[in-house]
Amino acid sequence: LEFCQALPKIELHAHLNGSIRNSTIRELAASKGDAVGLAREDILKITEDGDRNLAECFRLFDLIHKVTTEHTTVTRITREVLQDFADDNVIYIEIRTTPKDNAKFGITKQSYLDSVLAGMEGYIHKGEGSKMMARLILSIDRRETTEQALATVKLAAAYKTKGVVGIDLSGNPSIGEWATFVPALRKAQQQGLKVTLHAGEVTNSTEIKSMLEMQPDRLGHVCTFTDDELESARDIPIELCPTSNLRTESVKSYGTHHFGKIYGRGMPVVLCTDDSGVFNTTLSKEYAIVADAFSMDEEAMLQLASKAVDYIFDASPNVRTVLKGKFSAAWMRWN
Ligand code: 5GP
Repeated sequence: LEFCQALPKIELHAHLNGSIRNSTIRELAASKGDAVGLAREDILKITEDGDRNLAECFRLFDLIHKVTTEHTTVTRITREVLQDFADDNVIYIEIRTTPKDNAKFGITKQSYLDSVLAGMEGYIHKGEGSKMMARLILSIDRRETTEQALATVKLAAAYKTKGVVGIDLSGNPSIGEWATFVPALRKAQQQGLKVTLHAGEVTNSTEIKSMLEMQPDRLGHVCTFTDDELESARDIPIELCPTSNLRTESVKSYGTHHFGKIYGRGMPVVLCTDDSGVFNTTLSKEYAIVADAFSMDEEAMLQLASKAVDYIFDASPNVRTVLKGKFSAAWMRWN
């Protein structure tokens, strides 16, 4: 773990509201009191550390969304989450979040986004100084309508110069029809936004086929992909989140995680945390877990971490040059 902590790392799949510190969720839930609409014991139970299956995770997300209804809170959690990743030696992060309308609290998708960006202040630089660089991906939640999804893409396009680099499709994989999201995802591609999709979290070969036809820039999870589906996705960088997959029972053990197959085939792959708060993990831990499960040595782990530069959504050559420079320095130290 010590080596993985010292390793410079790139995080490309982290949901903002899944990365909140447990202590902050409890503090916010306590300060909201009855407004959350849940008994104290229920809040304690939902926020209890430990294993959570996929359904329990989505219950926790609903609670988190109930306690993050103020603009100032959104800014605060963004700042805390970025601080935690920076402390873990992450040098570049693409954080993702779903812009939410919440009329009761005077929140619009745009004001939500502005609050997130306020929390990212100081991190959206192009590589000057040593501070971690951060970019934003806007998520479409599978509960949303075509119009809501299109509104998110419109916002992303308008904020391209302010740190937004792409669009993600996420949310409960058992909900929503692929056709609902196609117009928004196509629009994103036309607008020059990068697209990443949560794919194969539950078995749905028809959806996987349509997703691959869209030629996304990255894919997340791909747990249920068959060998043939993986072959069709051969050139698409894949975001893998081992602890998340194990906790949500998408894989049985670390040793049988599909990382082995994907890495073994020489496919582009990046390790990520998914929801570091919900799953009580860090990116260093994810690297250490994989090193251990697949008997990978320090050189292989450094190689794996360095390759992620090629999969980032920020298209600026300067950003890549800076990141490559940081990895070169890490190789020199290691040699
Ligand atoms: P937010 O977008 O509110 O910042 O982050 C939480 C949201 O991310 C959840 O409500 C859910 O839509 C999405 N999310 C987080 N983890 C997962 C995951 O493992 N799978 C899927 N499909 N969606 C997730």
